[in-house]
Order: sequence, then structure tokens, then C-alpha cells
Amino acid sequence: MSVSAYGNPSAAAPLAPMTIDRRTTGPTDVKIDILYCGICHSDLHQARNEWKNTLYPCVPGHEILGTVSEVGAEVTKFKIGDTVGVGCLVDSCRHCSACQDDEEQFCEKGAVFTYNGPDKHLGGHTFGGYSKGVTVDQEFVLQIRHTENLEAVAPLLCAGITTYSPLKRWGAGPGKKVGVVGLGGLGHMAVKIAAAMGAEVVLFTTSPSKVEDAKKLGASGVVLSNNPEQLAAAAGTFDLIVDTVSANHDVNAYLALIKRHGTMVLVGAPEDPLQVASFSVIFGSKNLAGSLIGGIAETQEMLDFCAQHNIVSEVETVGIDKVNEAYERLLKSDVKYRFVIDMASLN
Ligand code: NAP
Ligand code: ZN
Ligand code: ZN
Repeated sequence: MSVSAYGNPSAAAPLAPMTIDRRTTGPTDVKIDILYCGICHSDLHQARNEWKNTLYPCVPGHEILGTVSEVGAEVTKFKIGDTVGVGCLVDSCRHCSACQDDEEQFCEKGAVFTYNGPDKHLGGHTFGGYSKGVTVDQEFVLQIRHTENLEAVAPLLCAGITTYSPLKRWGAGPGKKVGVVGLGGLGHMAVKIAAAMGAEVVLFTTSPSKVEDAKKLGASGVVLSNNPEQLAAAAGTFDLIVDTVSANHDVNAYLALIKRHGTMVLVGAPEDPLQVASFSVIFGSKNLAGSLIGGIAETQEMLDFCAQHNIVSEVETVGIDKVNEAYERLLKSDVKYRFVIDMASLN
């Protein structure tokens, strides 16, 4: 079955209308009419081949929010009309130790990502959510309990889980001081979620215009990261720092702010390698870690946590014809704080 989509024919070409194939609904499949899809900075990295592994044509989009329009005969978890989400994963082997530990993103046979992954049904590679519809196995479809403002729920499917997972793993909560670097799509979710977990949250930003917003979102303090005096005053005080920056930057400046045995987690994925001075982690026995999205069970847990705490993303909703412009603005950090495509605008 062919559906309308928007994607990149090549790394150098802008996103343009295209038609893609979706499989017919199999016994355990859920067919979804896509209402909204968030624009993650990973979409931009991937569309422009910044990670040097993009398969073309590339249809990005892994913050998918939609309505179930058909279910296979063996589907038990969803029915027609349900509001559902799809994040970064659409399949995995389900048997390896990572899958059994509910960390399908690390499947030893290779997780199938929502776009740019191997498509075992149709051959070729998977296509993401900048499209009218998608068909996904029920085990990789998420239940959405939010009932309104659904465009603002879409970004939870990547930005939400990518920040929830490390915050939870490294114990963000009462009595913990948590830093968030960068107030973009991921960063603003990290601030909201860490605050809801009960942590004291401090935002580090390069943008003076975001200081007041960060406080409204739940940060008790904001540090301008290009101000050496403000950084020096915070040295050695953080239990955990979550770094969401999408471009090259000095991580050593943030490692200096971590407490003895504390942890800095990288979730941002800049194109070029970061430089880490050994002494930034040797003194204080500090931990420099990374985190990749989250498994399906934890994604559902995050969605339920956000529904319970009334957490959604701050979004600017755009028509599909504005997606190239949105990419340029995203590069300039000119969005408060996540672009979401209204798929009704795609014919
Ligand atoms: P985004 O909305 O563009 O936010 C990135 C933020 O980083 C910006 O808002 C800006 O915040 C800051 N920033 C940008 N350029 C900077 C620079 N040159 N120096 C210092 N700060 C800079 O992007 P996003 O969608 O949140 O994604 C962030 C990164 O996470 C991307 O690299 C993306 O690929 C990656 N990602 C990783 C995972 C994972 O599983 N690990 C999942 C999703 C995304 P301020 O204006 O506040 O400084
Ligand atoms: Zn993403
Ligand atoms: Zn597996």
C-alpha cells in the first residue's frame, strides 16, 4: 500500500514530497493514521548524513502520534480508534539478553529503528513518521493516556524517553542536584521530568533569551554556559548532569561541576568526537556515561508518568511545507521548544 510522505532523496537535497510503501496489516500488526510527528534533531543529523550511515531516500520522524485504523487478527493490545504512539523502535529479535531485559534498543541482532533500519517485511529500509500512516507490530506500539493537546504529546516518544531513562537510572529525585545542558527538545523535557521527579534542577544554556522559560519549566537555577564566573561558582556541586547538546562543545567545563563519584550522561550526539581531558574525570573519580533512548516498557512507563504529572512538550506546530524552514531554525536553536508537524497538512 502506498502512502504520502516527505523525505530526503539525497544528503544534499531538501525534504520533498514522495510516495512510500507500507506493508499490509499482518496478524500482530497495528495500522496507524499519523496525526502528528515531532522533529527531533536526530532527524536532521540523519537526513543530512551527519552520522555517515544514512540510506536514501530517507523519511525521518520517530515521534509519531496517531490513531489506530486497522488491527491484525491476533492483536490484543489495541483496537480501532485508540490513540497510540510510536517512538524510535519498530522491531527487535525479542529473544537476546538485551531484549529480555527490556532494552530492545540494544538488541544483539540489531534493533530495527523507525527509519533507516532494515525492513524485513518489504526489503530495503524503514521509513519514519513524516508520512500519513505506518504499520507497526503491536509490541512496539505505545498506549497514550493523555486525552488532549496530542501534538504536544508526540515529542515524548523520543525527547521524553531519552531524558527520562538516564534521569531514572542515575537516581534523579529529592535531595539530588541535576544539571541539564541545552534547552532544546530534549533539554526542556529533561527539565520538566527531573523537576517532576523531585530533583533540584539547574539549566545550562548558551541562550540568554531562554532563562525565564527554564524557570517556568521547573529549573530553580539557570547558568549561562559562556559565563566562566557562573560556571566556577557551581564547581563540584552536581550529582548528575544530562548533556543534550547537538553540536561540538567543551564537556570538560561540565565535568568540573560534578561532585565526587557523580555522573555526567551524554545524550546529545554531535557529528564530531568530543575531547575529554583525563584529569576531568580522574580527580573526583567521576563517571562519564551515555544513554540511548529507552526500551518499550520504559517508554510506556515514561508516557504514564507524564500523563500522571500533566507533562507535555512545548511545541510549535507547523505544516509539512514548512519542514525545511523548521530544520534551518532548529540549527539556530530558534524553536520553543519542539517543532511538531501536523500531518493533516500532507496530502
Ligand atoms: P535541539 O532541540 O536542537 O537542542 C539542542 C540544544 O543544544 C539547543 O537548543 C541549544 O541549547 C544547545 N546547543 C546547540 N548548539 C550548541 C552549541 N554549538 N554549543 C552549545 N550548545 C548548543 O536538539 P534535540 O532534538 O534536543 O537533540 C539534541 C541532541 O540529542 C542531538 O544531537 C540528537 O541527535 C541527540 N539525540 C540523542 C538521543 C539518544 O538516544 N541519545 C535521542 C534523541 C536525540 P541552548 O540554546 O539552551 O544552549
Ligand atoms: Zn529523536
Ligand atoms: Zn534482541
